[in-house]
Amino acid sequence: MEATHLQCNYCGQAVALDAGSCLHCGNVTSEEIFEKRESELARGERERHSRPKIIMVICVLKCIGAIVSSLVIFSDEMRSLGSGFTAFLAIELIITFVWIAGVWKMRKWGVLTYLMLTAAVQGVSSKMGVWSPGDFVKSAILLSILFWHFPRMK
Ligand SMILES: [Zn+2]
Repeated sequence: MEATHLQCNYCGQAVALDAGSCLHCGNVTSEEIFEKRESELARGERERHSRPKIIMVICVLKCIGAIVSSLVIFSDEMRSLGSGFTAFLAIELIITFVWIAGVWKMRKWGVLTYLMLTAAVQGVSSKMGVWSPGDFVKSAILLSILFWHFPRMK
């Protein structure tokens, strides 16, 4: 192709460099405009998936909470509740770090992981007779915040 021509970004036909738009498909083909549009699209995409402050706060608080409870799990008091319960808490903890990482990266699977974990925790705790309405409400609030931002996640 000659230097005076540009390949259309949309249909691939040769277009005069100074034409501005493609004769064949009508799209803007100027290299400069095309690059500008590309970077605007990229910026829009980045902003769309950027992490809201509330998500940041949730992740940090939940992470601190998980670290604290990891110290508690292996305390003597917890051990007296039985190894089954300790194992359950340990698994819950691992999954907690997984969903926090997912939500931090604005990934939909992070929210879904938290949803499944919450359902499992609610089920197990009611079966064990340690279900608390406070925990249920807290989880429900957290879930509604996460699902509010769900459409913005990848
Ligand atoms: Zn074209």
